[in-house]
Amino acid sequence: MTSEFRPITPEVYTATSGETQVGSFTLTDPATELIENSRPFFNWLMEWQSGRPDFDLAAEMQALGLKAENVAILSADMINGFCYEGNLASPRVRALIPAIVGLFNQAHALGIRNFVLAEDHHDPNAPEFRQYGPHCIVGTSEAQTIPELASLPFASDFTIIPKNCLSFAIHTDFLGWLREHQQVKLYLVVGDCTDLCVYQMAMYMRMDANARNDHDVEIVAPMSMVDTYDLSVETAARIGALPHNADLLHPLFLYHLALNGVRVVNNVK
Ligand SMILES: [Zn+2]
Repeated sequence: MTSEFRPITPEVYTATSGETQVGSFTLTDPATELIENSRPFFNWLMEWQSGRPDFDLAAEMQALGLKAENVAILSADMINGFCYEGNLASPRVRALIPAIVGLFNQAHALGIRNFVLAEDHHDPNAPEFRQYGPHCIVGTSEAQTIPELASLPFASDFTIIPKNCLSFAIHTDFLGWLREHQQVKLYLVVGDCTDLCVYQMAMYMRMDANARNDHDVEIVAPMSMVDTYDLSVETAARIGALPHNADLLHPLFLYHLALNGVRVVNNVK
């Protein structure tokens, strides 16, 4: 090392400019370096995302030789507390409602009767509240299915799975449903949040099939029907929470689902 070597210390980082001149050196802050080094991947990711094909449900069922009883819709947390009221209500999640209601109607018209709605139904003292703040406590309107789904004429076909953590399969009634529905081979996973409950749900179903060496199970996640919440660094600092960048985490977790064999599609038609 020459005498010109200078250690990189936090004091010379600047969060906004990206580069700092120190003597004859130009130091790049770690975020800029990460972004620059990851640019080829991010370019690939954006191209991959925009290139996702649509999923023609009726045609796919025919091609796979599936009847209506072999198909299920799995919905994560389409409840008031993520769409309309409370600490975690998000406009991005609310915006999913028309597409998800459309899928429910389309599926029902095709004869599908397997609708599983996993819903936060928290104990007032849920450990999860340490991370996310109180939300969707059992017995409150936040924990109720959104009216757009609850008012569907076939809502009595819904299987509601109350849950007290991100997973719909841990200490819930879901495994009982799964045992009774071994004929289901095609699962469409919708709802929120891409990186939290949807991820847990799609991965559980994929891992369950993989572990059983079942090659016939297909898990499909339509991008138009899943999303996650956004919490800026500034707002997070103000309320004492961890920030959450939806524009980054949504595509990253879609990618991660695809990496593990979940079929990520654009829309269902
Ligand atoms: Zn929760």
